[in-house]
Amino acid sequence: MPYFICTTCGTQYPLSSEPPQRCAICDEERQYVHPNGQSWTTLEIMRESNVYKNEILHEEEGLYSITTNPEFAIGQTAYLVQNKSFNLLWDCITYLDGKTLGEVKKLGGVHAIALSHPHYYSTQVEWAEALDAPIYIHEDDKEWVMRPSDRIQFWSGETLALSEGLTLHRLGGHFKGGTVLHWENGNNGKGVLLTGDIIQVVADRKWVSFMYSYPNLIPLPAKKVAEIADRVKKLKFDRLYNAFHRIVVENANESVQKSAERYIAALEGKLFTT
Ligand SMILES: [Zn+2]
Ligand SMILES: [Zn+2]
Repeated sequence: MPYFICTTCGTQYPLSSEPPQRCAICDEERQYVHPNGQSWTTLEIMRESNVYKNEILHEEEGLYSITTNPEFAIGQTAYLVQNKSFNLLWDCITYLDGKTLGEVKKLGGVHAIALSHPHYYSTQVEWAEALDAPIYIHEDDKEWVMRPSDRIQFWSGETLALSEGLTLHRLGGHFKGGTVLHWENGNNGKGVLLTGDIIQVVADRKWVSFMYSYPNLIPLPAKKVAEIADRVKKLKFDRLYNAFHRIVVENANESVQKSAERYIAALEGKLFTT
């Protein structure tokens, strides 16, 4: 029996002889069922196809990105953070093979995996088992875990310190348990925020945005965006990485603040006339 994987969002499901009837992640207003219909694959099929390869890139001191080529499903990037002999895998990608595991182990392996939100749960249990690591997910998103595992630790409240200078902050928004990672020692001590889709870096890399659904363009309420910006304001960071290898290289906290102000002005009809 295989663990089926949805080809549109990359989420892996529990062992079953037949593919699931539907993908709960895609069959929801924040995602979409592919216009050609629901389809499934497995990690074995992906590996045997010899199509996919994970690329691990050094981003800055203590930070590596992991991306699958060619792009699969949502096409996100995961990050390996090396922080004072504690390695964290931030977010996850579906494709995993022996070569990737070997490279990650060479970088020191991982001590924990933490997820920003359900769109990147992907094959997190495979990664956790292969690397012998716990998975941290905010309890408010528990219902979106499709493949349960004893490795998953649901955390509650607004913050969770994983290690010295490495803290999860639940901001909500895109998902109720939507989480960002604050890495205080990153960027030569100026601080880094890794945001998944919770704060999205847009085409103009000096700006970010905040949405309930990105593929279906559903905005968040002004009040929630103001709350996110307010929470982030208190954190010391200068650089921000999203889940698509897009980076606000410097003055990132200012970018979040001015982007929230612009977003709210647009929602309230004060930004432009149309
Ligand atoms: Zn799906
Ligand atoms: Zn998302």
